Amino acid sequence: MHTILTGVRVNEEPTIGNFLGAYTPMINLSREHAEDSHTNFFVPDLHSFTTPIDHSKLYDQTIKGIKYYMAAGLDTNSPNVHIYRQSRVPAHSELCWILDCFTPYGEACRMTQFKEKGAEHPDAVTVGLFNYPVLMAADILLYDADYVPLGEDQFQHLELARNIAIRMNNKFDEKLFTLPAPEKEQVKFMHLENGIRIRSLTEPTKKMSKSAENEKSKILLCDEPKQAAKKIMSATTDSEGVIRFDMINQPGISNLLTIEALLTNRDIQDVIADWAGQTSYGDLKRKVADSVMYFLSDFQERLNQISDADVEAVLQKGEAYANEVANKKLRQVQKAVGLYK
Ligand code: ATP
Ligand code: MG
Repeated sequence: MHTILTGVRVNEEPTIGNFLGAYTPMINLSREHAEDSHTNFFVPDLHSFTTPIDHSKLYDQTIKGIKYYMAAGLDTNSPNVHIYRQSRVPAHSELCWILDCFTPYGEACRMTQFKEKGAEHPDAVTVGLFNYPVLMAADILLYDADYVPLGEDQFQHLELARNIAIRMNNKFDEKLFTLPAPEKEQVKFMHLENGIRIRSLTEPTKKMSKSAENEKSKILLCDEPKQAAKKIMSATTDSEGVIRFDMINQPGISNLLTIEALLTNRDIQDVIADWAGQTSYGDLKRKVADSVMYFLSDFQERLNQISDADVEAVLQKGEAYANEVANKKLRQVQKAVGLYK
């Protein structure tokens, strides 16, 4: 059995970009590998305040974030799908400390995410922010994870996890840690070659981002459907006057065609063919707005049917499994470094 491991950040309200570009592909991957792999979905709640957050909301956001995944179709009944909170598996923090002592300071200093996030929050550069890639290495290595679907911005952290594992395997035991697959293999496994990028509705040369300040630039999964439809109607297009799929010259129109295809589960080529040569941007927007409304109503109905108790039950099962696997690995490491015989 392989292990696919993915951390699911839940601090902010997700967009349809997150849904189409991350939730759906990840859920599909776990279905595709339901027989041959464990899929660990965990909420990195300890990571969530490496930069300042509203702590009074963290607990509820975690539960809600898991509901989103369940509403998106994550098969929580599968014996090989495990959902857990990082904070409920103390082995993550314990292994982090041990790994810290095998991570050269100079190597940790090279993490570009730290530099970038640090620049975004110059008043709140904490040791936690600096150390978080090592905690991430613990998240991965505790479960002998082979595949860790993650964004490009995280590949450097994956490399760090591999380096720590290689160093400790060389020093203690070749079989101590399973190395997560290198970047190229990960990309292939995740089918990232045909990665999906939904664009901002107001600035279609950029991607849609949940943290974008302009509410009109993004469609949130919690948006009131009619409100979301209005955002589509006011989406930025161009003055070419003809509907074509051309990401360079007509990124707004191309984005609408992409959203339409993905939300209605149709082949993008068929959608492009349907609209080829048509000239009314209004007609296209109305069609996409309808699809968005239909999608959101349906999604939110499913979401509302999931209770807190449903999530608690899923977590109880997942956290029991995670603790069992993680504690076993932790004990192996504790023995290797001489804490246990
Ligand atoms: P932020 O603005 O905070 O960076 P984000 O919307 O970019 O938020 P992330 O938390 O950075 O979201 O990424 C979560 C996942 O969603 C990643 O796998 C990322 O590749 C994916 N994702 C983010 N934005 C899009 C998008 N516009 N289209 C497709 N996938 C996306
Ligand atoms: Mg992002």
